[in-house]
Amino acid sequence: MTSPLDNLFTPGLVAAQQPQWPGGPEGAPIKAAVAELKSFPPLVFAGECDDLKARIALAAEGKAFWLQGGDCAETFAAATADSIRNRIKTILQMAAVLQYYSSLPVVKVGRMAGQFAKPRSNDMETRGDVTLPAYRGDAVNAIEFNEAARTPDPNRLVRVYNTSASTLNLVRAFTQGGFADLRQVHEWNKGFIRDSSVGERYEKMANEIGRALSFMQSAGVDPESFKSVDFFSSHEALILEYEKALTRIDSRTGNPYDVSGHFIWIGERTRQLDGAHVDFASKVRNPIGIKLGPKSTVDDALALIDKLDPNREPGRITFITRMGAGKIREALPALVDGVTKSGAKVLWVCDPMHGNTYEAPTGYKTRKFDDVMDEVKGFFEVHKALGTHPGGIHIELTGDDVTECVGGGEQISHEDLASRYETACDPRLNHSQSLELAFLVAEMLRDR
Ligand code: PEP
Ligand code: MN
Repeated sequence: MTSPLDNLFTPGLVAAQQPQWPGGPEGAPIKAAVAELKSFPPLVFAGECDDLKARIALAAEGKAFWLQGGDCAETFAAATADSIRNRIKTILQMAAVLQYYSSLPVVKVGRMAGQFAKPRSNDMETRGDVTLPAYRGDAVNAIEFNEAARTPDPNRLVRVYNTSASTLNLVRAFTQGGFADLRQVHEWNKGFIRDSSVGERYEKMANEIGRALSFMQSAGVDPESFKSVDFFSSHEALILEYEKALTRIDSRTGNPYDVSGHFIWIGERTRQLDGAHVDFASKVRNPIGIKLGPKSTVDDALALIDKLDPNREPGRITFITRMGAGKIREALPALVDGVTKSGAKVLWVCDPMHGNTYEAPTGYKTRKFDDVMDEVKGFFEVHKALGTHPGGIHIELTGDDVTECVGGGEQISHEDLASRYETACDPRLNHSQSLELAFLVAEMLRDR
C-alpha cells in the first residue's frame, strides 16, 4: 500500500550527525525499530501543534513571551516522577515570575519528552589509549565508556518513544489536573530550598499573586484559564529515522506533522540548507526552531526562511540565537535587522547557554551564570535598539539541586562543581539559578 508519506522526504541528501547503526543505515536492526515506531500512536496531536503555532505568532508580534527549558540531554534513568515534577515546577515558577512582572502571557515549552539525542563535535572519544564512539544521547548509545555501551543500538529509539510517552503523560496530568492552577503558586516552591534570597523573593511574589486572585474571586471573577496551563514539548529533531517514523498525515487537514513533539528545532550543526534535516523540517507542519550561531549571516537566515516558510505562515519560524555573551552585541543586530527588513515575521529567542560553555580548571564543562545573564542582557539591548521584540529564552535547566554552572546567588565555584555534577551532556542551571534568572529576565522584560 502506498502512503502520501512514502515520497515526502527528498532521498539521497546528506544527513549530518547520524549514528553509525550496526548493519548500516539500511540494515535489519534499524529497519525493525523504524517499523515498530511507525506502528505506534502519535505522542502529540496536529491540533496542539497548530495551537502552539498561533501562540508563537502572538509572541512574534510582541504579545507573548516564550520560555523553553529543560535538560541538555534527557536520560532514561532520570525520567522519574520526582525529576519530571521538579522540572515542571521550576518552569511553572519561572513562568509565573515572568508573567507577573511583564503582564505578558508566557508560552511554556519543555526541552522534555523527546530530547534524547545529541550532536557531537567529535565522532569518537579517546580516554588513555582507548577510542570509542562518542556518547550521542540515550537515543543512540549509553554514556558508560566501554565498547558495548557506546555501540549504537536502534532499539533505543523505541525506548525514546516509550519514555517520551510516560513523560508526556505525567506532564499532561500535572498541567491539566489542577497542579498548575495559579492558586498553587506556593505549592510549586515546596521541596525546594526556601531560605535563599531568591526563594524568599518568590514567596513574596506568590503572596502578592495569591492576594490578587482572592480579590478577583471575591469580585466573582474565577476564570477557568487559571486552573490549567498549556505546556508544550520540544526537542532537537536530530535522528531522522525517529522523526520520519513519527511523521503522520493529519486526518483533519491532510498535512504531515511530526507527532514526536509539538515544537522541533534544527541545531547549529545540522541546519545546512541542502541537508536532510532542513528538508525534513520543510515537509512537516509543526512550528520549527532553528539555532543560529555567531557566524550566521542574514543570507543564511533569509534562505532558511524561504525554504522552511515559503508561504510566510504566522508562527512557523523561531530563530534561537546562541552567540555567546562576548559576541551577541556584535553579531545579532545585522541578523535581526536584515530579517525584519525582508518583511518576514519570526520569533526571536535567546539561548544564552550554548555560546558560553568552557572547561573549568577542574576539568568540568561549565558555564558562568554571569555570562548567561550578560548574553540575555545583550539580547534585550539589541532588540530595544532595533525596536523589535525580545521574544523569549531557551535555557538548559533542571529542578534538581545540581552544581553544574558556576555563580548565581549560591556562588557555586569551580571547586564546587564536583559535588553534584550529574548532566549527561551540557551543564544546566539548577533550581535556584533558574529562578534567579527568571527574576532578572522579568525585570528586563518589564523595563524593555
Ligand atoms: C543543544 O541545544 O543542546 C545544542 C546542541 O545546541 P546547538 O545546536 O545550538 O549547539
Ligand atoms: Mn546542550
